[in-house]
Amino acid sequence: MLVVKLVQEEFFSKEIENLANGKAITKKSNLKMLDPFLGSGNLLRVGGKLRNATIEYDIPTKSDLTKLIILHEHFRQLHAGPQAILDSVRQRFWPIHGRLAVRSVFSKCLVCFKVRLGQKMGDLPADRITPNRPFYVSGTDIILLVRFIRALTAIYSATL
Ligand SMILES: [Zn+2]
Repeated sequence: MLVVKLVQEEFFSKEIENLANGKAITKKSNLKMLDPFLGSGNLLRVGGKLRNATIEYDIPTKSDLTKLIILHEHFRQLHAGPQAILDSVRQRFWPIHGRLAVRSVFSKCLVCFKVRLGQKMGDLPADRITPNRPFYVSGTDIILLVRFIRALTAIYSATL
């Protein structure tokens, strides 16, 4: 938790100082909505209704630690989507603007990017989606017809 502490001190020094001195957090702070408090080891934790949740540390969106935690969770869950990653990250950490942080990591994952590319289907040519009589465009139908006739002939000659 030393790393969390260092990162919190880098990004939330003002909030930690205020809380340590028994003062309220300034309204401008990103943490204001979370009603944070100092837990054991002077670590910032999420307050409000989540005060009694197991372990939840505030972590800043922009820190590399947050990105690493999210990325680790993304890989651990075999490239899960943003909501699944956020849910499992929040079991221990509370990234500020979490949805944004997770989406940013997710959009940069090369594996997921390639999968998304693969899933997108190209446009079908007009011939393929315009109703028309058989054999009008493609030669495939005629090959099937020839095979069908050959098969019929074979069956017919076998019965003779
Ligand atoms: Zn991925």
